[in-house]
Amino acid sequence: MSVPDTQVVVVGGGQAGLAAGYYLRRQGLDFVMLDAGSAPGGAWQHTWDSLHLFSPAAYSSLPGRLMPPQEGEEYPDAGHVVSYLRDYEKRYELPVQRPVRVTGVHRDGELLRVETDSGTWRAQVVISATGTWWRPFLPAVPGQAAFGGRQLHTVEYRSPRDFAGQRVTVVGGGNSGAQIAADLAYDTDLTWVTQRPPRFLADDVDGRVLFDVATARRRALDEGRTDAGGVASLGDIVAVPPVREARDRGLLKTSPMFSRLHTGGVEWADGTRAEADAVIWCTGFRPALSHLAPLGLRGPRGHIPTAGTRAVGEPRLHLLGYGDWTGPASATLIGVGRPARDAAREISAFLAAEAT
Ligand code: FAD
Repeated sequence: MSVPDTQVVVVGGGQAGLAAGYYLRRQGLDFVMLDAGSAPGGAWQHTWDSLHLFSPAAYSSLPGRLMPPQEGEEYPDAGHVVSYLRDYEKRYELPVQRPVRVTGVHRDGELLRVETDSGTWRAQVVISATGTWWRPFLPAVPGQAAFGGRQLHTVEYRSPRDFAGQRVTVVGGGNSGAQIAADLAYDTDLTWVTQRPPRFLADDVDGRVLFDVATARRRALDEGRTDAGGVASLGDIVAVPPVREARDRGLLKTSPMFSRLHTGGVEWADGTRAEADAVIWCTGFRPALSHLAPLGLRGPRGHIPTAGTRAVGEPRLHLLGYGDWTGPASATLIGVGRPARDAAREISAFLAAEAT
């Protein structure tokens, strides 16, 4: 077998990559982590100014180290998460190289070849942990090109200051849509558009409960019991304090989805119009997997079929942190630890078997 540069390459140095690094180190494996960002913290560095976690600090922790509480905030803000991830990376001396963007992962005999904008690595195993923030999803709606105002996605939204006094249409009934609508409700002329009436979770349901429900569901499915529907059966929107406040003040009224955009705003099927200076698409994300295209593994809905975290079509590839399809609640701080641990154990066993 040709000599690898390292046993494992981890692509991505956000929370999922760091959790993988923590467990790879505990397995005593040799690995490098390649991250396209210029600083630690993954997507949390880029979110809007007022974003707070939907769970308290202690319930937003990676393996090994509790997130410290943020003074004066039950639900920490994104800046606090960035500091925590920076400290975590340093404390466990995780070998993150940045900025290094992986452009393609290729089969190369018994190894995987990881091509980047800063050189090539050959590894026995690759863990992909590139998140979703980098692939915003916008639905195709007629008239988008004709609209004369500003269109942006969640990833570009920062603060209501940028829209003060403007007519803003927010599209999307998930957490991002609700939080951005609540953020804009005071200083703009807001139209909040959702495909179905918004489903707020009970006020006492936060990330702690969601994690417990997701875990219980996984266990039930693993044991062949009936699927009670998991988190999605409870609702879509965590009523974090700013959302609750705007909702209780009656500022979060919604309209159904419009059918097209026109030069000056949006238009519903019955011809009703709302003028808009800006449309903010809070319409979700897709997994950022383009670097894996050379492996030809893409399955339905842009996902790569997995058994646990391992790609079904390529046993040397693991995927971590993208959503429930890579482990229950694995796209959360508290949820990514377990699939990361299982992936590191499986990789260790795989490499041991390869060595015999
Ligand atoms: P990311 O944080 O996106 O990290 C991926 C890293 O990979 C980045 O550093 C990126 O630069 C790098 N990368 C990408 N492509 C490449 C490439 N080709 N080569 C090299 N590097 C690459 N979770 C919670 O637990 N609590 C919350 O309250 C919460 N709120 C959220 C609110 C919003 C608006 C969103 C969008 C998500 C929220 N989440 C929350 C979910 C989740 O915790 C975050 O999305 C988190 O950032 C996911 O971490 P990650 O490591 O998977 O991805």
